[in-house]
Amino acid sequence: MRTLVADHPLIAHKLTTLRDQRTDSPTFRRLVDELVTLLAYEATRDVRTNVVDVVTPVAHARGTRLARPRPLVVPVLRAGLGMLDGMCRLLPTAEVGFLGLVRDEDTLVATTYASRLPDSLIGRQVFALDPMLATGGTLGAVIKLLLERGADQVTAICLLAAPEGLAYLEEQFGTSTVPVAVVTAAIDERLNERGYIVPGLGDAGDRLYGTVGAG
Ligand code: URA
Repeated sequence: MRTLVADHPLIAHKLTTLRDQRTDSPTFRRLVDELVTLLAYEATRDVRTNVVDVVTPVAHARGTRLARPRPLVVPVLRAGLGMLDGMCRLLPTAEVGFLGLVRDEDTLVATTYASRLPDSLIGRQVFALDPMLATGGTLGAVIKLLLERGADQVTAICLLAAPEGLAYLEEQFGTSTVPVAVVTAAIDERLNERGYIVPGLGDAGDRLYGTVGAG
């Protein structure tokens, strides 16, 4: 499994404001959007393309177009939804699927409550969006499902990752013959006893949508 930490001053600057507990929801949402576009730039480095010819006002030129089948973007509900617009801005031709997983706050086990994906993902490059890679339970379940449907390549884009989550994904997919990658803005110190990333940024869903608790 490939892990890429997108180490860039603009990313670090935006991430610092996201971490700040004083940052309000509208600012948080805008920064997530901007940050995802920067992460997506790194995550799509090996998106498949075709060589095409184009006629400029001056001459013929050799160019590049995104190949078919179109990449599939899968935000993991609910917090991954806050990353969708930023991703689609960079990859406007992508198709979008949805997966809803909820984490039991006691056991930290993720279960699927919503799934809207093409039946077959054979030949597809898939980008899963989930802001927080904590225990890896949710993303692990998502990646497993995408691979079971035949995805050719799975790249998870996360704002933050915990070493525990990365180790879990490595254990699950380290020997996968299908390329699996995680692109993140930073790897934090650890998880706390409630499964939150430390220092992290708190509950990404609550901070995006301004709500607290379940429901
Ligand atoms: N999910 C979050 O939103 N935040 C964390 O720190 C861990 C999981």
